[in-house]
Amino acid sequence: MQVVKAWDAIIVGGGIIGCSLAIALRKKNWRVLIVERGEPGQEASHAAAGMLADFPLELPLLLRKIAAASARMYPEFVHELRDESGIDPDLREDGTIQLFPADCSEPRQGLSRLADLSGVEPTLAIGDLQAFLLEECSVDPRALTSAAVQAARHRQVDIASGTSVVEVVIAAGQAAGVRTDKSSYGAPVVVNCAGAWASQIGPLRIPSKPVKGQLLSMVGGPALRHVVRAPGVYLVPRTDGRLLIGATLENAGFDKRTNPEIIQRLRAAAIQFVPPLAEARILEAWAGLRPGSPDDLPILGATQIPGYFAATGHFRDGILLAPVTAQIMAGLILGEPHAHDISAFSPLRFAE
Ligand SMILES: Cc1cc2nc3c(=O)[nH]c(=O)nc-3n(C[C@H](O)[C@H](O)[C@H](O)COP(=O)(O)OP(=O)(O)OC[C@H]3O[C@@H](n4cnc5c(N)ncnc54)[C@H](O)[C@@H]3O)c2cc1C
Repeated sequence: MQVVKAWDAIIVGGGIIGCSLAIALRKKNWRVLIVERGEPGQEASHAAAGMLADFPLELPLLLRKIAAASARMYPEFVHELRDESGIDPDLREDGTIQLFPADCSEPRQGLSRLADLSGVEPTLAIGDLQAFLLEECSVDPRALTSAAVQAARHRQVDIASGTSVVEVVIAAGQAAGVRTDKSSYGAPVVVNCAGAWASQIGPLRIPSKPVKGQLLSMVGGPALRHVVRAPGVYLVPRTDGRLLIGATLENAGFDKRTNPEIIQRLRAAAIQFVPPLAEARILEAWAGLRPGSPDDLPILGATQIPGYFAATGHFRDGILLAPVTAQIMAGLILGEPHAHDISAFSPLRFAE
């Protein structure tokens, strides 16, 4: 086996999680290599809607604290990526209108009910649902991820694209690098950030699973100011005039094809809430694979192999959780204290 160059850390997967962590480690002067099977930032992080949904009712109990922390980090995260890449991730801070059925019993303390939508979101038709305004933001995940890839390059993170990691190399019981389909790379720290594909990398099985989401974008309709989240559908406006409509949650393996009937169903659901959208046209339809896990919680931390870490399983919230994940994982890898208890997310909870 020929080892080409040594790094302090190798990150497997160049999605938003891998790139954010690479930047965090680079800031500590670590030499970092991202090994990416395709082109960085073209999988789940490219497919996402971009809601920064830290609203507690949207999240498992155990995620709420780190989700809130990550949402607080976002303005600075975006500012830095924009500065270093010249790409604007389109952080929108107008808020989210969450619609609940009138008879919904979920607690809504602290939420401000919108009795009259005409001055707030005039094209929204909510029937007998109730509307609440949340302070949640959104970003454009494609721009965000491109910015993160650019910023990583700018900070001299090395990126090996088009090469698939097959397994983590172990020497004397410790991580020593990765073997790919083409070559090998050496480092005493390896972090599995391979998203829905994390389970395919040997020798340990990190139990990620793909959860497919289909969505579409429309142009030429009314300009919404807010994200709108309704039962069964959400609408996410972009500043460039696109409106994203999503999304399905499907167990369909690694299939990323879209189904025209499902896309039309999502479109019809959106028109029900914003009737003038009937005049808009579909720009694009696509599907992506969320990195799920057996208990729907992220998989973050050290594995049973010294030097081998996992940062995946972010499921529906990986865009939101990117800044806090990078902070937590960098702290853990560097042996520095960090503010969060991540024991519930340990990869060891799945160890046999
Ligand atoms: C339809 C949809 C809507 C979503 N909406 C939101 C949202 O509104 N808000 C939110 O916060 N999150 C959302 N998400 C979730 C979010 O997109 C993910 O949680 C997040 O992008 C995960 O990032 P990642 O870097 O772990 O994975 P990915 O972006 O998938 O990156 C993993 C990378 O690893 C690479 N890779 C895989 N195997 C190997 C290998 N063997 N060797 C080398 N490289 C490998 C892949 O090619 C890929 O580039 C959504 C996801 C989908 C699909």
